[in-house]
Amino acid sequence: MFFLTLEPPCEDYLIGLPAGIYLLEASRQEETFEPRRLIFASPRLKALAGTEDLFPLLWRPEALHPDDREGLEKAKRQLLSRKGELWRSFRLRRPDGSYVQLREGVSLFREEEEGRLTLIGLWIKLGEEALPSQGLPLWITLLEKAPVGLVLYDLQEGTFLYANSYALNLLGYSLEELRRKRVWEVVHPRFQEEVKKNLERRAKGKDFPYTYQELHLLTRSGQEKLVTLFTETVHLENRRVGVGIGIDLTPQRVLERRLTELAFFDPLTGLPNRQLFLEKLRAFIARGLRKREQLMVMVLDLMDFREVNTVWGYQAGNRVLREVARRLERNLRRSDVKSRFFADRFGLICMDVRGTWGIRAVLEKIEALFRRPFRVNGGEISLSFRAGVSLFPRDGNQAEDLLAKAEAALKRAKEHDERMAVFSSELERSLAEEAILRTAMQEGLRRGEFFPVYQPIVRLSDRKIVGVEALVRWKHRELGVLPPSRFIPLAEKSGFIHELGEFMLRRTLEDLSPCLSREECFVCVNLSARQFRDPALSRRIESALKRTGFPPERLHLEITETTAMEEPEKTLSILTKLRRLGVKIVLDDFGMGYSSMRYLVDFEVDKIKIDRFFVENLLFGEKPRYVVRTITGLAHNVGARSVAEGIEKEEQVRILLELGCEEGQGFLFSPPLELPALKEFLKKCAP
Ligand code: C2E
Ligand code: MG
Ligand code: MG
Repeated sequence: MFFLTLEPPCEDYLIGLPAGIYLLEASRQEETFEPRRLIFASPRLKALAGTEDLFPLLWRPEALHPDDREGLEKAKRQLLSRKGELWRSFRLRRPDGSYVQLREGVSLFREEEEGRLTLIGLWIKLGEEALPSQGLPLWITLLEKAPVGLVLYDLQEGTFLYANSYALNLLGYSLEELRRKRVWEVVHPRFQEEVKKNLERRAKGKDFPYTYQELHLLTRSGQEKLVTLFTETVHLENRRVGVGIGIDLTPQRVLERRLTELAFFDPLTGLPNRQLFLEKLRAFIARGLRKREQLMVMVLDLMDFREVNTVWGYQAGNRVLREVARRLERNLRRSDVKSRFFADRFGLICMDVRGTWGIRAVLEKIEALFRRPFRVNGGEISLSFRAGVSLFPRDGNQAEDLLAKAEAALKRAKEHDERMAVFSSELERSLAEEAILRTAMQEGLRRGEFFPVYQPIVRLSDRKIVGVEALVRWKHRELGVLPPSRFIPLAEKSGFIHELGEFMLRRTLEDLSPCLSREECFVCVNLSARQFRDPALSRRIESALKRTGFPPERLHLEITETTAMEEPEKTLSILTKLRRLGVKIVLDDFGMGYSSMRYLVDFEVDKIKIDRFFVENLLFGEKPRYVVRTITGLAHNVGARSVAEGIEKEEQVRILLELGCEEGQGFLFSPPLELPALKEFLKKCAP
């Protein structure tokens, strides 16, 4: 029995507590119980009830206000079902007929055979709680088995009087040992003075309200434990006794530390995450500002990593990422910060990197790390990366800003397919411009700022106009007329190219239907890679042809050699579909990509356009002539004609004719013209 195990003086102190306590024996009746015998009732309880004869008042409907009776049965059941603890409020009917509003905390202390229960109850009169509300739930755990520590101590002497088992376990002492200790002796030296002072103040009778604090204790074995502690004074027979209730926060702190780790470290590789990376960068910048040290921020992205996941599985992907992290850790300087941001994106901060040479040195180290293949599932994977770099203090002194600039450089490196790009003000300008242009494009199309220009294409032998190529222009409100190189790549990336392409196609066919039908001329329309792969392409073209009545065989679609050879099998099926519409296919910018002979035959293209680069160089040596001859020969062999672009000089025409090229376009004949000018030009050239 709990109270009986206490040393006699302790019982007295408990009796003096400013809350009523009772111990009640009851018998279980299935899910409820009936009171059997009152074992103990504290003086305070008797005072609250206004009688010495308490047993008839405990857990009896007759002893409750009529409105509170209903809840009694439910409370009984709840107490037995809910881990044996319960708080409830009710109005107790005293023998003299008056009511007192009580809050009762009950705990099922013990259950023995044959359903014999021992309950411990605590009464507090509502409105005049003797204890602060935070402390209240803890008082019920006066019980030995309570999950909080409870100690009583003599305020004058500072000696312990009592400690429950939680407190004893926490401190590692037996009750006898603890009784020989002063309160401050179990407190970490850092806090001893404070605790002593507190004790003195309380002993002197300064009745300040309960205090609450976090305190480091020292256990018997010298371990440090963090507890949260409530202290209060109770009055007993002219003595003042300290009550301490403490909860061990140490496990919570361990958990918190783990959570912090999760918040700052990447669980897969154990490297700092992006947040900690920024944190460290901030710290380095602060240090660098003082020491005038240079820092390099590098962002790495693995190439084709998604394929590793799809081909080898996520497990393998994870192993590769861990290995990348390990290699970075092993081979870069210890002081360098290595971080994984997400997926296959890594970040580095390297200290004291001097100039281009220093950047190169780091890059070479990283290249070396990737030279060795990664082993997974008995296979080997070769990986490569792209890197973006920004420098402190050159590119800024804000962590986020530097990281954003390194990421912008990375983006550039990927676009230009270079191993690494370093941030520059020029890059910044073009990025800012890109951002503006991207939003302006959509607006521009609505406002009619886009329009086609047409460059005549002639038969080289007699210079008769045989067709035109439609080329897009953008008349930007502030920037003036922009060439496609300024916005096509952007439109391609953002997907705007679909809208723009559709516009160009319709507009060109509408423009040229009336004037070209007489002339028997064809019109070339350029398709970008993304347009070409658009599943809706043939439907779009078909509807544009129908709407304008333009003869399909005179619509020539240009795709670049590079686009065509990217996924040749796919190209083949798209081309088959397009050819069914009756349109012709032109391979543009030929000579710049790497064509496979086999596919070139299969594609059955109608024309091959020799890239301007070779035409330009025809005048400066044998090699370009050789290339052009090869291309024209190739064209003829696959049943196509050849066209030369960028002809600016008579001499070029002469050579091209010699080399077997049939058609050509270029400033020598005419620059790209707006529709009215084209009409004029056609009229002039008409025989
Ligand atoms: P491309 O199809 O190879 O077009 C030929 C480019 O050479 C045009 O540049 C044209 O203005 C230029 N050019 C023509 N003759 C000469 C010459 O004698 N000397 C020089 N130096 N240049 C000459 P532009 O209009 O700037 O177009 C560039 C590229 O933009 C085109 O190359 C094409 O790939 C793309 N493009 C143009 N319009 C469109 C379009 O409507 N849709 C798509 N998807 N791409 C387009
Ligand atoms: Mg073209
Ligand atoms: Mg071209």
